[in-house]
Amino acid sequence: MWDVVVVGGGPVGLFLAAELRRGGVSVVVFERRAAGTPAAGGDRALQVRTLQLLALRGLLDPVRQRAAATGGSFVGFTADPGDVAPPDLAELVANWGASRLKGHLAMLPLIDRDGELSDLPNQLAVWQDKLVEVFADRAHEQGADLRYGSEVLAVTDRGDHVGVRLADGSEHSARWLVGCDGGQGVVRHGFAFDSTAPGLVVYLAGASIEPAGLVRPGLHRTAGGLMFINEPPGELVVIEPDPADAVTRGPVSEADFVDALRRVSGTEATVSAFAGAVRVTDHARLALDYRHGRILLAGDAAHLHSPMGGQGLNIGLRDAAGLGWRLAGVIAGDDAATLDDYGRERRPEAQRVLRDTLAQSALLRTDPHSAALRDLVAELVEIPEVKRRLAERMAGLSSAIPARPDSHPLVGTFAPAPALAAITADTIRPVPVRIDGLPALVVRPDGYIESVA
Ligand SMILES: Cc1cc2nc3c(=O)[nH]c(=O)nc-3n(C[C@H](O)[C@H](O)[C@H](O)COP(=O)(O)OP(=O)(O)OC[C@H]3O[C@@H](n4cnc5c(N)ncnc54)[C@H](O)[C@@H]3O)c2cc1C
Repeated sequence: MWDVVVVGGGPVGLFLAAELRRGGVSVVVFERRAAGTPAAGGDRALQVRTLQLLALRGLLDPVRQRAAATGGSFVGFTADPGDVAPPDLAELVANWGASRLKGHLAMLPLIDRDGELSDLPNQLAVWQDKLVEVFADRAHEQGADLRYGSEVLAVTDRGDHVGVRLADGSEHSARWLVGCDGGQGVVRHGFAFDSTAPGLVVYLAGASIEPAGLVRPGLHRTAGGLMFINEPPGELVVIEPDPADAVTRGPVSEADFVDALRRVSGTEATVSAFAGAVRVTDHARLALDYRHGRILLAGDAAHLHSPMGGQGLNIGLRDAAGLGWRLAGVIAGDDAATLDDYGRERRPEAQRVLRDTLAQSALLRTDPHSAALRDLVAELVEIPEVKRRLAERMAGLSSAIPARPDSHPLVGTFAPAPALAAITADTIRPVPVRIDGLPALVVRPDGYIESVA
């Protein structure tokens, strides 16, 4: 019997497996994808707090070397984006990949105009499939058993262990199980969720618009939504607020995509060279608890929301960092009740991200009331304190673990750099740190301050 089964070898599952191996526990990862096939790709933004975490684990350099997405582009625009109608979008596109852009709120750019945000480090754009490779290598080097082509059909908490059934008919057991199987996984089925129905849908497609020139390359805000049209052949992104079919699941056919393109563009356009499309919604879902007995959730399995603002992968990796050392501690003999602290600590950040993404969906609507709200928010964003607050939030820098009200103000905050130096590759328990000028701190393996003497 393994100590831990991790279901799902996406970024969160693999990073968690490496974390658990640091604690010396036996880990198997069951991943449905066949060996050698790439994980879901696409460019993703890693935020400052996540980069700090990767640096603590010695993973920042490998990620930079193998996963960094060079020549950062805005949703596929690799050359001149052509017509960009609204000024806020034009400014966002013009600054994409530049150090003065510190994130965006519903595509309202958070720009460091006069050095007021210059102390905020930049996010790092990475290719998610390459990131997964880096994490898989690390998990493998550390001794995790990675089993590809292993689809989990069912998991059952049997009180003193967890039973796992795979699609090939084999049965397995472990002391603990963590569902890192993403938004469509099976492990979450025994959990209750807070859920908000989708109100916005994004279609991403590879295709050329016909007749050529009917919808010009560029970014367009129309009465029906937003469109990002690349020069053919290139990516087309159609964002439709309040869509007719936001709840539709399954593959997106060429006809589905053309329908959406017509609704949003207000034209009779069709497409050629259709290379497939995906549909992403802002369906928001958050587990009420991250643990049921011996089964836990992390990453998209626990929280799902729209990708607007680039947060899901980031908070998922930070879930793994918050869970790994605790679960290793419980396997080594700590009270299992400490695992409830994992969800208690991690849920508020996910809740905030869900709320922020829903707010961004509202700001992307194109009806006159929402457009007026967007104009107002665009003005407010330029207030330096507001801009800083939002930029820090998007960078994950405002994330802290909840502390008791009577605690020292440093408790629950991320440790300053000199204290983080005490975290080594072998740190799997909170460590005491004494630094000149600072009170004696106890710093956790995920970088947060546990207590102050
Ligand atoms: C268009 C887009 C842009 C995004 N941009 C950003 C961004 O810029 N920044 C950001 O932080 N986030 C972004 N995200 C979100 C990010 O991609 C996800 O939050 C992240 O992939 C979650 O990782 P995960 O490991 O939890 O789940 P997943 O990546 O979904 O991995 C789950 C894994 O589990 C496997 N699996 C599923 N079911 C089973 C089963 N039954 N048995 C075995 N294996 C199973 C799957 O094959 C998969 O490998 C974006 C998402 C999209 C769609």
